Amino acid sequence: MPIAPETVSRVEWLGLTSQQFGAYIAGFGLPAYRGRQIFQALHRRFVTSVEAIHELPQGVRTALAAEADLEPLRPVQVFEAADGTRRYLFTVRGGHAVETVWIPDGRRVTLCLSSQAGCPMGCAFCATATLGLQRNLTAGEIVAQVLYVLRDTGRRPGPAQSANVNVVLMGMGEPLLNYSHVMQALRVMADPFGLHIVPRRVTLSTVGIVPKIIALGRETDRPHLAVSLTAATDALRNRLMPVNLTYPLAALQQACLAFPRHSGEYITFEYVLLDGINDSEADARALLRWLSPLRARNAAKINLIPYNPAPGIPFRPSPPERIAHFQAVLRAKGVPTYLRRPRGRDIFAACGMLAATAGPTTTCCPTGQPKLT
Ligand code: SAH
Repeated sequence: MPIAPETVSRVEWLGLTSQQFGAYIAGFGLPAYRGRQIFQALHRRFVTSVEAIHELPQGVRTALAAEADLEPLRPVQVFEAADGTRRYLFTVRGGHAVETVWIPDGRRVTLCLSSQAGCPMGCAFCATATLGLQRNLTAGEIVAQVLYVLRDTGRRPGPAQSANVNVVLMGMGEPLLNYSHVMQALRVMADPFGLHIVPRRVTLSTVGIVPKIIALGRETDRPHLAVSLTAATDALRNRLMPVNLTYPLAALQQACLAFPRHSGEYITFEYVLLDGINDSEADARALLRWLSPLRARNAAKINLIPYNPAPGIPFRPSPPERIAHFQAVLRAKGVPTYLRRPRGRDIFAACGMLAATAGPTTTCCPTGQPKLT
């Protein structure tokens, strides 16, 4: 999907690597070291105006100020959960809402980024799907999510700091349907003069856009791959994830098998557990069967995600005993299987809850569920 014209009126500074930025700035007759100075000020000191780059002579600052849009995200609200998770609600040009989630875990932190405003995939259990696709985010808008949140939380990047920052493309949107902007954003984030968050610290999660998984496998510098599976039979996956009608499980399996992995690298398969829908022992066995060629190559790891209830979505979370049994069945066959602890549920920040809600409400969840207030 093309970027709406209102988003490309100027060169997007935050979407350029230091090298690209140097070439761009040379067009103003400025030497390369000036380009690097500005790039570092943006990506290391998180300045948000050219005026604040004091190393630049006043004349240069004045000349460049009109060219730069250094705040492509307009902050609307920040929600902080009891567990320290923060959900940032922004708007982007055109007025669309976008969310970013900050998930601290001891000294480490995971940043969950959005790749699109809304999402076109229509997964039946996901709140973001109710928005539909509004538009793709630009590379600068993706990078700006990291810059904004690191600035807001007082983190300063640099090789040592960024080692503790992991990025997951698991917010709003389907990253592989915004392939070129996502990959460009990852190049900018990896820049050693800036954030230096390298692709090996990044995980990209997809519903399974097969041709794009193949394209991703051909990249020299690429993030880790996670695939949202959630059902291991076509009949069920067709109902829960309409993408399966286009790229059914057999094609997805082929793409995953052919995906070139680094040594010791796994593909992560995410499986959202829905009460009475996909959480029986038979479902676990179907999953084992579907995974078997991948297991044979030690290529698969499973992340079980307890369903997070969201208003208007007609599913219920599986009871803990059933989740434990499901996990045990997989583990008994030697598949590394982890249970993702829900983070930030109380502020609608957990997986599948990003729906640009302005704030936690007292909306009642599906029958029998606790109120999310
Ligand atoms: N479109 C990509 C990126 C979003 S990742 C993808 O689907 O992979 C968001 C993750 O949250 C996906 O694994 C998705 O399956 C999961 N998810 C969606 N709705 C959920 C819900 N209500 N509860 C728990 N997880 C959910």
